Amino acid sequence: MKDDSTICAISTPPGTGAISIIRLSGENAISIVDRVFLIHNNKKNLSQKKPNTVYYGSILYQDQIIDQVLLTFFKAPKSYTGENVVEISCHGSIYLQQRIMEILITSGARNAEPGEFTLRAFLNGKMDLSQSEAVADLIGSRSKSLHEAALKQMRGGFSTEISILRQKLLNFSSLIELELDFSEEDVNFADRNELKGQIEKIQDIVDKLLESFKYGNALKNGVPVAIVGKPNVGKSTILNILLNDEKAIVSDIPGTTRDIIEDTVNIQGILFRFIDTAGIRDSLDKLELLGIERTFNNIRKASIVLLVVDANETPEDISQQIINLDLQAEQKLIVITNKIDLVKNEVVLNSFKDLLVSNKYHVVSISAKKNLHIDILINLLVESVKYKTQLFNDIIVINLRHFESLKATYEAGKRVLDGVENNISGDLLSQSIREMTYNLGAITGEISTDEILGNIFKNFCIGK
Ligand code: GDP
Repeated sequence: MKDDSTICAISTPPGTGAISIIRLSGENAISIVDRVFLIHNNKKNLSQKKPNTVYYGSILYQDQIIDQVLLTFFKAPKSYTGENVVEISCHGSIYLQQRIMEILITSGARNAEPGEFTLRAFLNGKMDLSQSEAVADLIGSRSKSLHEAALKQMRGGFSTEISILRQKLLNFSSLIELELDFSEEDVNFADRNELKGQIEKIQDIVDKLLESFKYGNALKNGVPVAIVGKPNVGKSTILNILLNDEKAIVSDIPGTTRDIIEDTVNIQGILFRFIDTAGIRDSLDKLELLGIERTFNNIRKASIVLLVVDANETPEDISQQIINLDLQAEQKLIVITNKIDLVKNEVVLNSFKDLLVSNKYHVVSISAKKNLHIDILINLLVESVKYKTQLFNDIIVINLRHFESLKATYEAGKRVLDGVENNISGDLLSQSIREMTYNLGAITGEISTDEILGNIFKNFCIGK
């Protein structure tokens, strides 16, 4: 994978801009640029100048000035890639960007592959694999919350935890392998109780990380929120308010939202994916029944369920609807009693307070039509997501590849525990422990193959 050519790419988005940045990395980056760059009012060339400084000058080709640019250079190993790096800020016309690229290539650089700068940073030990992947997530993050998770990963929060786990396992692995060398003598260097205790601890941590992925995935694609309830209670009106848009058809004919309508919106830095569902009621209409079935599918997939009820419904009726939802423990329920503008007496509203006290979910009384208490609803939504972040100690898995490796680690861990329980031989135990260390190592890149690396970096953008 490692090669010593000097690569170059346009690192800013394609198209015209006020300025554009062209980046080079490789042993010859500085000498290549020296051939085509003249520092303003200065006879020295770059290699004689101080790195990490901005220089003003011109790009020249065959004695002709191509552009006036600002240029920064970094000397190996103190750069993003760990190699000599030059960044040229030129004027952002498409013609100029391409012209300068051509000149650099003619002078000895080659076009960079997607993600090749970050690949080099990984190969040169500047960051581990999970940190490199976080770079892609950071660039791709559409919300503050995902940005925070990616930034933490890039700064190594997740890697440290994985490396510690792996180191502990490696210690056990070597002790058990030592036993194999003394197999005639039937000795146990690795205390089985201690091993069991350690693996259980590791399983707990891995399990929590696995659990965090569901949430991390939700942050990436939008936390799924299903809006459910009987027809005509105001689901579409609420969706429209939350989306700030007229996407769902609001009508007073019960059963109009037969198709599932969904859209994402960024609220206070969190990406939510709201799903408006067909109203739930007893029906004989085939199409409507299909819609109701889909509603239940969406309820199962949601992290948060908003059950919309009419403020005139009785607590008994609402309790029954909650039971019918059949939610899992990790799903968050918010009951919205809508149309409070139509409720004349406080008695009805007060009866919901009993619900609030006796159950684990929140109740919020609003009027979607009159825009009353929507802010309380929004706060509840945001708080329920933030609460989850704290649950995972701020370390959230956002990458499918990491999730798969953690899952494989957990499976192997189960085999180790079963093995200890059933007193199986050291070589079988050692094999499962090695599987665990392999999979943990694959996350941080302590173990990697060209194929794995190729797959990861091909999804990066060029210039990164
Ligand atoms: P859905 O079938 O649950 O999606 O209900 P819609 O959002 O289509 O609303 C049904 C009817 O209730 C429409 O006529 C809305 O204007 C009306 N509606 C929705 N929210 C309120 C509210 O808070 N107060 C009042 N008075 N009417 C509302």
